[in-house]
Amino acid sequence: MQKFYVLGTCAGVAENGYTLSGVLKHNDKYLLVDAGGGMQILRQLKLSGLRVGDIHDVFISHKHIDHLLGLIPFIRKILTLIRLNEYEGKLNIYCDKEIKEIVDYIIKTTFHDSFQEVYKETVIYHLIEDGQEYELIGYKMKIVDTYSIASVQFGFEIELENNKNLFYLGDVPCALQNYDKVKNADWVLHECFYTSEKNKITELVSKVHSTVEDVCKKMNQLEIKNLILWHTLDYEIETRKQRFLAEGKDFFDGNLYVPDDLDVIDLD
Ligand SMILES: [Zn+2]
Repeated sequence: MQKFYVLGTCAGVAENGYTLSGVLKHNDKYLLVDAGGGMQILRQLKLSGLRVGDIHDVFISHKHIDHLLGLIPFIRKILTLIRLNEYEGKLNIYCDKEIKEIVDYIIKTTFHDSFQEVYKETVIYHLIEDGQEYELIGYKMKIVDTYSIASVQFGFEIELENNKNLFYLGDVPCALQNYDKVKNADWVLHECFYTSEKNKITELVSKVHSTVEDVCKKMNQLEIKNLILWHTLDYEIETRKQRFLAEGKDFFDGNLYVPDDLDVIDLD
């Protein structure tokens, strides 16, 4: 049983939804994929029917606020569960070395002294680099450099059951260097914003993010079977799904998904 629980779909700072986060579930094991921007991660997990105590693996793509800072309350919750004897084992975090330094600093300076030892004992960091492979939640994961121009950033490829695979490409357009890897993938999680609002986007944003049309055309060329569009702006969120699907359908022949926060996607 393989599912992807979408906790948050929004980019940057969001008032109308939660920022980027999801949980990949494989049987009774869970991988948190980015943590969104804050405390609301705990509520999103609860609303999804997921228990923090069941999660032992976390992947963080990069250090930006909308992906990283939810990790702080998530760890704090785990340290509390340990005190209550409700969390067993270790928490494995897969991230770049700078992220470990940032999280170590925040925890050292903002958590009560009584949590410091248990944090060091419980959290195991795996410092990732392009091409490294790990076994986790019953899958093989291979780290992929996203070649982001904004910060060090990684994504991954996971080999799912039934010879299928899933790529997470962080919050940047699929880089040319990754076309051969991503080609023919069964599932791709990709960022984007509205094609029709291209003119409203700043020059910087347009360099580091894609329109619905751009990403659908590119993923169609790469013969992707299932494309999940997320990491979007949070305005007019009520009509986002219909608008994105309408904007993308002429350019993509596979299955196009535009999840709302708390949607669950069946990967079987
Ligand atoms: Zn982002």
